[in-house]
Amino acid sequence: MFDLIVRNASLTDGQTGVDIACKDGRIAAVEASITAEAKEVIEAEGYLVTPPFVDPHFHMDATLSLGTPRMNVSGTLLEGIALWGELKPVQTVDDIIERALRYCDLAVAKGIGAIRSHVDTCDDELKGVQALLEVREKVKDYLDLQLVAFPQDGVLRDPAALANTIRALDMGVDVVGGIPHFERTMADGAESVRQLCKIAADRGLMVDMHCDESDDPHSRHIETLAYETQRLGLQGRVAGSHLTSMHSMDNYYVSKLIPLIAEAGVHAIPNPLINIMLQGRHDTYPKRRGQTRVRELRDAGIAVGFGSDCVMDPWYSLGKADMLDVAFMGLHVGQLSSRDDMSWCFDAVTENSARIMGLQGYGVAKGKDANFVLLQAQDKIDAIRLRAHRIAVIRAGQVVSRSTQVVHEITKPGEAARVLNETQIVDGMKN
Ligand SMILES: [Zn+2]
Repeated sequence: MFDLIVRNASLTDGQTGVDIACKDGRIAAVEASITAEAKEVIEAEGYLVTPPFVDPHFHMDATLSLGTPRMNVSGTLLEGIALWGELKPVQTVDDIIERALRYCDLAVAKGIGAIRSHVDTCDDELKGVQALLEVREKVKDYLDLQLVAFPQDGVLRDPAALANTIRALDMGVDVVGGIPHFERTMADGAESVRQLCKIAADRGLMVDMHCDESDDPHSRHIETLAYETQRLGLQGRVAGSHLTSMHSMDNYYVSKLIPLIAEAGVHAIPNPLINIMLQGRHDTYPKRRGQTRVRELRDAGIAVGFGSDCVMDPWYSLGKADMLDVAFMGLHVGQLSSRDDMSWCFDAVTENSARIMGLQGYGVAKGKDANFVLLQAQDKIDAIRLRAHRIAVIRAGQVVSRSTQVVHEITKPGEAARVLNETQIVDGMKN
């Protein structure tokens, strides 16, 4: 007797007609026509079952704060940072917890199973840290929340930031963050990378820095991050988030840089929605896109995961916890339009980010954690095309969110009413 069987699913590797059986929080079998009984059976009707979406870059201490205490009028990154500085002193720990939990409900409904959230440590009270440590505990049965100690105002530029960042790590924050391009000088930026990587090495932690989130082609802190990663033996444990300056760098320099990043085993986390919205703001025309060189990083063997970064906060007024929106934007901005490229964009919001975050037991296979999502889509490309509806979200073999399929009743004059299912428009089309 299984806890759950999902019947007649398609998988991301192209298999169809597969049953998935779950027992005691694990996937017990993935095979055709499982005859055993289960407490609950879900008919997948040939739709796609995927591992959960993973968001490797988010700001949960700011999410859903849109309009408090005011709107970002210019829409720039720098006004966003200034606005966040106005919100921090007036928000309470309870405010942050309440908003974060509301966001986590939305994230679960959208099939997100893990989030890496930066949490601002430039605050003597560490309100965000207190709040998100509590939230991490509260949501752990349905969402893996990994926290990054993030000195938003610069670990060297803000005199209290280093001590507060260390205090946040002592309190149990998981990952060491940074923002080298926001320090006062290039030299300070490089020094911040050195100090923060040393802290991570001493404590056995991962590193994830906001790195070169700028259109300045001379912002090259990723070079120092790769160097320090290698020097301190942190290969596989370090990520550079954003890396937008790479968009504007000289091609010759990039031809040296990308192999260095690959050699150091540093991961890349572009944030397509936010990068296309915030970068290039000082340009007239032609206007730069500001997304890092996704295709070139991927082709060099670097793990690239797309993050969402912001939802309804000082930096971004839109968003709905939908990692398929993120993949859709990353695909367009990166012109990743071949069948293989589009399929890879789905991996960039699932398995690549799971690898970057070091998630264990991830994947739809026997012996893995019974965490997965049933999408109203036929395959990975269809899922991105439709930003597919989530029919069911399963965590530890239990349904944590469910919804009926989305269909439209068409009632055109002179015709009998009929039901349109967008997914079936492409029935018979095989990739
Ligand atoms: Zn960020």
